[in-house]
Amino acid sequence: MRLNKNQIIELLENNNILELGQLADEKRQEFHPDSKPVTFVIDRNVNYTNICTCKCEFCAFHKDKVEKGSYVLDYEIIRKKVEELVSVNGTQLLLQGGLNPDLPLEYYLELIKNLRKNFPDLTIHAFSPPEIAYIAKNNNLSVKKLLEMLIDCGLSSIPGGGAEILDDEIRQKISPNKISAEQWLSVMETAHESGLKTTATMVFGFGENYGNIANHLLKIRDLQDRTNGFTAFIPWTFAPFKNSSSVIAVSRSPERSECFRRNNPGKIFLDCFVEPQALLAMTGNTAHDYLKILAVSRLALDNIPNIQASWVTQGLNIAQLSLRFGANDFGGTMLEENVVRAAGVNNRTTVDEIVDNIRKAGFKAARRNTKYEIINKF
Ligand code: SF4
Repeated sequence: MRLNKNQIIELLENNNILELGQLADEKRQEFHPDSKPVTFVIDRNVNYTNICTCKCEFCAFHKDKVEKGSYVLDYEIIRKKVEELVSVNGTQLLLQGGLNPDLPLEYYLELIKNLRKNFPDLTIHAFSPPEIAYIAKNNNLSVKKLLEMLIDCGLSSIPGGGAEILDDEIRQKISPNKISAEQWLSVMETAHESGLKTTATMVFGFGENYGNIANHLLKIRDLQDRTNGFTAFIPWTFAPFKNSSSVIAVSRSPERSECFRRNNPGKIFLDCFVEPQALLAMTGNTAHDYLKILAVSRLALDNIPNIQASWVTQGLNIAQLSLRFGANDFGGTMLEENVVRAAGVNNRTTVDEIVDNIRKAGFKAARRNTKYEIINKF
């Protein structure tokens, strides 16, 4: 039976995560019986620029053009990074960057064209919906036209970044300059209609309530009903205290919030006084929050085949546990990752470690491509 919004909220209010894990594990087995391997992809995240005008409150990665450490990568640097990826049997390049007003359309087109020419077998998984919408707007192109041009140059698929919480109540607070939830979904719908497969993400821990999370899940599920274009759903956690630009917090009591304001002058504070059972504390998600939301995602998204564990934000131990909380995939090896690292989370891993963790959780391991086709088993 399909979960409605109230049922999703009810599940999120259930703190018995063993019960939720059991339900999610049963759901996972409908898509991926235990006889099927747990998969991962060898990939690299290249962030072509960190200059970004969007200035999301939670982002520790972006810089102003004049700020020390701001950069734009040229093709030669990116080519070398991809050569390193290919030399370790990597198949997926995840290419994302800030919303940089100085980059002309040719930068993006030539980048994809050159990568395709030099690496014909590479999966170029590039440009999340905020980037696509921004590049299209700056160049007076429709999203459809821009996507056609990028596909012609060799774009393979689109990553599901920039979704955070697809509920404008939250987006207005944390990233008011970013595309709205509707725009994010519209870019994805156009991409799917253009023949591109994409992933979908959800970043939580911004002070959203369970209703906001349910809205996010239902919007993704509705679009998937129409297009069947999402290959996977990737929920992960926001790391608030490690972000350099702001500390954003939420309190269950006005007294505590006043204390927080006094002790953190100049920091950003979002008021979100809701009932404790409906609150996700922004002051840091716990493994309990993560596993619970992962399990409920698996249960709610009955039309998305793959759910990824996030070892990057959770570490390998929790990622391993995730395999009994609805996840069937370990994501990428991430030869390079900059955005989460900029927030101070520094988890790193290797193929051997991933395989070892999958095996020790009682599953077989396999390397896959971006389409979730198995390349080789271990
Ligand atoms: S999250 Fe993305 S869009 Fe927002 S400021 Fe950071 S780089 Fe820019």
